Amino acid sequence: MREGKLRELNDLFKAFTGDGHRIVGPKKRGDDVVFAELTSIAEYTTEYICTANSAKDFIFPRSEAILAFTYNAAGTEIVDLLADEYPPTVIIGARPCDARGMRSLDAVFGGEYDDDFYLKRRAATTIVAVSCTAADDACFCTCTGGRPDGIEGADILLTPLEDGGFYVETGSQKGEELLGRYENIFAPAPERAKRDAAIEKAYKDLRHDLTEAPDRIKLWLDNYQNYDSDKWPKIVARCLSCGACTFVCPTCHCFDILDEGKLGAGVRKKNWDACQFDHFTLHASGHNPRDRQPLRWRNRFTCKFKIYRDRWNLPGCVGCGRCIRVCPVGQDITEVMAEVAELGE
Ligand code: SF4
Ligand code: SF4
Repeated sequence: MREGKLRELNDLFKAFTGDGHRIVGPKKRGDDVVFAELTSIAEYTTEYICTANSAKDFIFPRSEAILAFTYNAAGTEIVDLLADEYPPTVIIGARPCDARGMRSLDAVFGGEYDDDFYLKRRAATTIVAVSCTAADDACFCTCTGGRPDGIEGADILLTPLEDGGFYVETGSQKGEELLGRYENIFAPAPERAKRDAAIEKAYKDLRHDLTEAPDRIKLWLDNYQNYDSDKWPKIVARCLSCGACTFVCPTCHCFDILDEGKLGAGVRKKNWDACQFDHFTLHASGHNPRDRQPLRWRNRFTCKFKIYRDRWNLPGCVGCGRCIRVCPVGQDITEVMAEVAELGE
């Protein structure tokens, strides 16, 4: 790991744009701050704890055409829409929870099954995370193994310093190379104590009451006797199945493949889907193994706290709190965690 100091964020912005990178960062949109493409550093805002959407939107888009097809009496023609290259992109201002979530997505889309659309975009993307100096009531990264200054999944981590500069650390080979390439904009690192002091408040403000919950939850979920527990309807009674929690989640990855077009021509699309929708597991026969909302919530929760760990030893929830902030009925995953953890004692 290399360390240094960045005096001005604008220097990094200019270095990346000068190198032909597209910049994605936190930008105000109405009352929200969202990750969006930035055309100038003036659009970058620091007034956010956590953006409304997650950075996954730029690597795993909501909707993506994967092939085009035509068919007629002469035959069928299929054109693969995977591009040779995707634009080099920097996601700047990702929080450490978002960067950590990216590692979980990497495991889903690369390895056992390779999704070239994801992998090519991912390879073209650099993650410049910014440590949290504040937290809100919905944040709970420390209860899922994260930290406000965690570097997992980030190529570069910037920690804001009191003098307006940033403490710089590299988290990957890509980050090291960038630090070397843009050497002229980095100064030697100040004392590490200054960096640690910057995140102290966030660390104190974050919840620490559920740090043991993921292990207890896992124990309970591992016991198949609990699979059909009558606790679920009570614990998740409020949920309306709107799916909003899955769309903002940095580790939710479900998608559906649909053909769109007219007679004789069309495109095949990969669209985000959500395990909270009632038709998500609807079979062609009409049978639906998750025909009630508690069963769908059980699935989402099990994916987060058991399946991700069993399959990849990675977190399925990074504690970003987005699902809590977005839920229209106040269904709070930390309340579910606390209740299930108690059952797992
Ligand atoms: S956002 Fe809330 S209501 Fe909507 S699916 Fe998620 S938990 Fe249910
Ligand atoms: S489940 Fe909720 S808190 Fe956990 S990573 Fe997803 S959106 Fe964030």
